[in-house]
Amino acid sequence: MGSVPIFGRLGYNRGMFIDSHCHIDFPELAARMPEIRAKMAENAVTHALCVSVDLPDFPRVLALAEAYPNFYASVGVHPDYEDTPEPTVDQLVALAEHSKVVAIGETGLDYYRLEGDLEWQRERFRTHIRASRATGKPLIIHTRAASEDTLRIMAEEGAGTDKGGVAGVMHCFTESLEVARASMAMGFYISFSGIVTFKSAKDLQAVALEVPLDQMLIETDSPYLAPVPYRGRVNEPGYVAHVAEYIAQLKGISVEEVAAATSANFFRLFSAARA
Ligand SMILES: [Zn+2]
Ligand SMILES: [Zn+2]
Repeated sequence: MGSVPIFGRLGYNRGMFIDSHCHIDFPELAARMPEIRAKMAENAVTHALCVSVDLPDFPRVLALAEAYPNFYASVGVHPDYEDTPEPTVDQLVALAEHSKVVAIGETGLDYYRLEGDLEWQRERFRTHIRASRATGKPLIIHTRAASEDTLRIMAEEGAGTDKGGVAGVMHCFTESLEVARASMAMGFYISFSGIVTFKSAKDLQAVALEVPLDQMLIETDSPYLAPVPYRGRVNEPGYVAHVAEYIAQLKGISVEEVAAATSANFFRLFSAARA
């Protein structure tokens, strides 16, 4: 089964978009899969990376990647999931052996959602970085209100191509330009979600303006964070085209350029993914 995008309904070729981060295994989206795939085709969204948040639900994520050639999977345990089985390096490495698992994560630190002694988050993050190094599959990093510790642990664990380690992506980026630059210097990509389209996101728009196209990815983080003009609704991978259009406008370039660069970046970073 191919994954040929349908351009006819758009009237012109805007390029092909890839949603580098979504959670379409969540029940509110999984139940609407035919509709979701139709919207992707309509908006020329050719591929989507289905991101794992915990081990009990990983089979659901993998099943999507196995069912559809243009879906890929990651394996990991999200830092916001406190009461869930703790992964070991060996477990993650074994699960990442599957040919459609193209990344480790999402992992990272979130000091915004959870408070108290979060040493377990930092230990879990280290486990993922070690699994990424062992498999050579890139990291999907979530960081919120914790950028200093995130960058420190990445450096301590040898993440980053600058040290001969693994590359990855800072997903749903909302941090400062300094954090973006430090991440890019380690060989990490910066991924923008629908947040960049929000009127209130002036600081983030300024960051997006500075991040070069060749170090940028786009994502939805569905079902959350639907971009304008769908803000407040359930998000889905087809809407990633609106993130690309917004970034094109912001940078004063064509949406085709954004599409071509971010899609090429996707396959360069997630090199286990076959187009
Ligand atoms: Zn996240
Ligand atoms: Zn996510």
